[in-house]
Amino acid sequence: MKVWAETSSAQTVGQVLSDQPRGWLDKERERDHLGAVPRSKSLKRLAPQPAPLDALVAEIRACRVCAASLPHGPAPVIWVHPDARILIAGQAPGRRVHESGIPWNDPSGDRLRQWMNLDRDRFYDRRNIAVAAMGFCYPGTVNGADLPPRPECAPLWRPRLLPLMRSVKLTLLVGGYAHRYHLRSKAKQTLGETVRAWREYPANVMPLPHPSWRNTGWLNRNPWFEKELLPVLRRRVKAALA
Ligand code: SF4
Repeated sequence: MKVWAETSSAQTVGQVLSDQPRGWLDKERERDHLGAVPRSKSLKRLAPQPAPLDALVAEIRACRVCAASLPHGPAPVIWVHPDARILIAGQAPGRRVHESGIPWNDPSGDRLRQWMNLDRDRFYDRRNIAVAAMGFCYPGTVNGADLPPRPECAPLWRPRLLPLMRSVKLTLLVGGYAHRYHLRSKAKQTLGETVRAWREYPANVMPLPHPSWRNTGWLNRNPWFEKELLPVLRRRVKAALA
């Protein structure tokens, strides 16, 4: 959705029209096919401005706040649309996502899609799924494991981003960083305890483990996740996208 620029002296385009005598307006319409205000002023006044979400995404993509701490440089990955109905709040991009710029474009994403029962086409339709991780840039690795999301990122951007995601019906909190940020004091001591307590949270929020292969052992030790949580997750995903 586009919004229109305000005219000078704090009048909207509509106010300018209603303030003028009808004869003036008719003459201007005859003279100017834009039909609103004199041509010399109309192009400037009617220039569309980016929608608030588009403007914020452009700001995020230009962000360099923690560039000095990012070994591979800033490359924010954010995947949003004002109509998106499911928000995935993950951890931070890994190397493959950093290189492609496409979130969850890796084996973890394949497992997440399987959990959600979505194919790639539906998953990557931005009107269905938005992806906004706790850190937008790849933080690098230590001893082969990804570093945590940069701590500057979530408090900087999420308070501005989340209120613009007005169509979201279901938020998936993927991993402990998203649990702690979104659930605050309601998050449990450990990731496993928080996921196990999923029934305690509102139906529009689901805490999940990270779908990385590193968590395969945890998934095997907790068969209730597949038997009890996943069927409910799939029902909620289907309902949110209906
Ligand atoms: S991680 Fe976040 S705060 Fe840091 S540069 Fe990237 S977008 Fe900016």
